[in-house]
Amino acid sequence: STDVVTIGEAMIAFRSQGQLSLSAPMSASLAGAETNVAIGLSRLGHASAWVGALGVDPAGELAVRTLRAEGVDVRNVRRDPSRPTGIMLVDMPAMLPPVVTYHRRGSAGSHVSTSDIVAAPRSARIWHLTGVTPALSSEAHAAIQAAIDTARTYGALVSFDVNYRAKLWGRDSAAEALAPLAHQADIVIASEDELELVADGIDEKSRVAALLAGVPSEVIIKRGSRGADHMSLNGTVSCPAFAVTEVNSIGAGDAFTAGYLSGFLDGAPIHERLTRGAMCGALAVSGIGDWEQAPTRAQLTTLRSPREEASR
Ligand code: ADP
Repeated sequence: STDVVTIGEAMIAFRSQGQLSLSAPMSASLAGAETNVAIGLSRLGHASAWVGALGVDPAGELAVRTLRAEGVDVRNVRRDPSRPTGIMLVDMPAMLPPVVTYHRRGSAGSHVSTSDIVAAPRSARIWHLTGVTPALSSEAHAAIQAAIDTARTYGALVSFDVNYRAKLWGRDSAAEALAPLAHQADIVIASEDELELVADGIDEKSRVAALLAGVPSEVIIKRGSRGADHMSLNGTVSCPAFAVTEVNSIGAGDAFTAGYLSGFLDGAPIHERLTRGAMCGALAVSGIGDWEQAPTRAQLTTLRSPREEASR
């Protein structure tokens, strides 16, 4: 049986070691918000499945092989012979922030559609969706709505991470598409600056209240190195971030979400779910790669104890 199903676009990220325009060497690895969450959950011992489309090309092969190696169920991945797998370039000049360029327009993944949802595992307890997918195409947007409807039919919970991507669309179009989706989710996850895209109100408190007045029973606000807050009708639970040296902030949110949902699946109390999320988020920012730092269940327990001597 499956614990969590995620749906979205997976791409191959080409990351440079130095300035790309100076012919820096590059390495290729899997990228995508939803696959990051699926891998994070799988490492923590949960059964996760990713639903999406990839091209019939070497990039698609790399994506499938990575997901398989990480134990993610790829039985419902469609290979599209007429469209390529999306790619992204991550320029990593020394001492400067990374610059991401997408090459995903017309990709197989950006045309994930309602028919891809039909075969998704019915046993999943949670369907995790993000605001990236609806930005990709009208078919992809329809697929996300279909996923919410299907999750409801199967009695699964819907988790929705707003994940606004400024490179894909403007704030107004994003708000118009994402607000109705967020209002249909059980768990809404947003960064501080994303909340206003999905809920009306004069301040954060009133926006959270607007969400909690409807379907959502919990809203989680991520605040980067300042931690995260969990809000429900029972009040607010806060969790500070761990003190780590930030090497790469990309993927922190997805790692946090995987940790949070892992705690949720275990039936852990809210503060423990948030702490697990914060641990995963801290690990994600302290190394290069969007999902590579994700801890296993065993590593999670050793993280809890104060730093010990290396066992050798
Ligand atoms: P997003 O990447 O979606 O904007 P955040 O940056 O808020 O998400 O990160 C999610 C979580 O990851 C935070 O709540 C925090 O626990 C952890 N995190 C993020 N940045 C840092 C950091 N610099 N140091 C330690 N933990 C961090």
